[in-house]
Amino acid sequence: MSILVTGGAGFIGSNFVLDWFKQSDEPVVNLDVLSYAGNLENLKSLQGDARHTFVQGDICDRALIDRLLAEHRPRAIVHFAAESHVDRSIHGPAAFLRTNIDGTFTLLEAARAYWNTLEGEAKAAFRFHHVSTDEVYGSLKPNDPPFTETNTYEPNSPYSASKASSDHLVRAWHHTYGLPVTTSNCSNNYGPYHFPEKLIPLMIANALAGKALPIYGDGQQIRDWLYVTDHCSAIRAVLAKGKVGEVYNVGGWNEMPNIEIVQTLIRLLDELSPRADGKSYAEQITYVTDRPGHDRRYAIDARKIERELGWRPAETFQTGIRKTVEWYLTNQDWVANVLNGSYREWLAKNYEAR
Ligand code: NAD
Repeated sequence: MSILVTGGAGFIGSNFVLDWFKQSDEPVVNLDVLSYAGNLENLKSLQGDARHTFVQGDICDRALIDRLLAEHRPRAIVHFAAESHVDRSIHGPAAFLRTNIDGTFTLLEAARAYWNTLEGEAKAAFRFHHVSTDEVYGSLKPNDPPFTETNTYEPNSPYSASKASSDHLVRAWHHTYGLPVTTSNCSNNYGPYHFPEKLIPLMIANALAGKALPIYGDGQQIRDWLYVTDHCSAIRAVLAKGKVGEVYNVGGWNEMPNIEIVQTLIRLLDELSPRADGKSYAEQITYVTDRPGHDRRYAIDARKIERELGWRPAETFQTGIRKTVEWYLTNQDWVANVLNGSYREWLAKNYEAR
């Protein structure tokens, strides 16, 4: 038995693979194209580990996926691979449509053909798990209740529109062809191996480098935050116990405005790695022009997965964010290596020129 993971060199995917082997010896075939966001350094502790097979390849490559499925005969596919950064989707949406829509379509078609070759128990047990985001539901007003699985889809960015499209394809492949799918829509993740273009790792990296801490608009955009290994345990719970065809919202009940996230990071950095001049990292905060179409609020109602699958996050925001800051402080080489890449030019163009 094995599972096929797509995008397993990215932030959540690599955490998922590392976490998987803490719970299980079941082999993982990890298909990742190694875009700017894919980093094999995340998985270096698995070098020489026979349980992990890494394949560099594209989820749009149908022949490759067919070959991997025929060769490894996985009992499940866990689909993380995506273009995932909203700002990049605004500047260049085409890659998002290609990977998130075409890629998911290609994977679904390959999975369907493979699933049709299975028989009996293997066929009944097979799962295609699609990892998606709360951003597909659009933006909430201040007093709206958190998103449930029955909220209408109102995606507002090219990223969320492409993820919404992929969710619809997954749903349709179940209803039309009977493919045994599950989907999870999760809120913002944070934790180790997070590419430093996203809010939390960007703020930590910039603070330590003495650079500006750019806050979009008034900083009052509200997000729900979940420690990444809690997302991994939720996906494992859905794989093990989730009902075919169902959608599960995953979140940490931690709604917080972006500015409060930054202030929390500053407090932790002031405590754990004070500036040489004795001043607070708060000095580095800079307000920058807001992202076009920036959603004001996302919040997740995670009661279904809690009630039906018994899932609970292990971390509170306070414990998770401290672990995260500590991880970045002890893994500054990882950040430096990421920052050496092409990512730096993009970041410079988008943040420092403002
Ligand atoms: P990420 O950008 O860090 O990683 C994506 C991975 O996919 C990278 O390793 C990249 O190389 C790979 N990839 C990209 N295009 C590919 C292609 N065409 N073929 C094969 N591999 C490809 O993203 P992430 O933050 O780890 O997100 C993973 C998944 O979780 C995404 O589907 C995302 O929409 C979803 N999600 C993310 C969050 C979050 O807070 N980060 C929250 C909810 C859902």
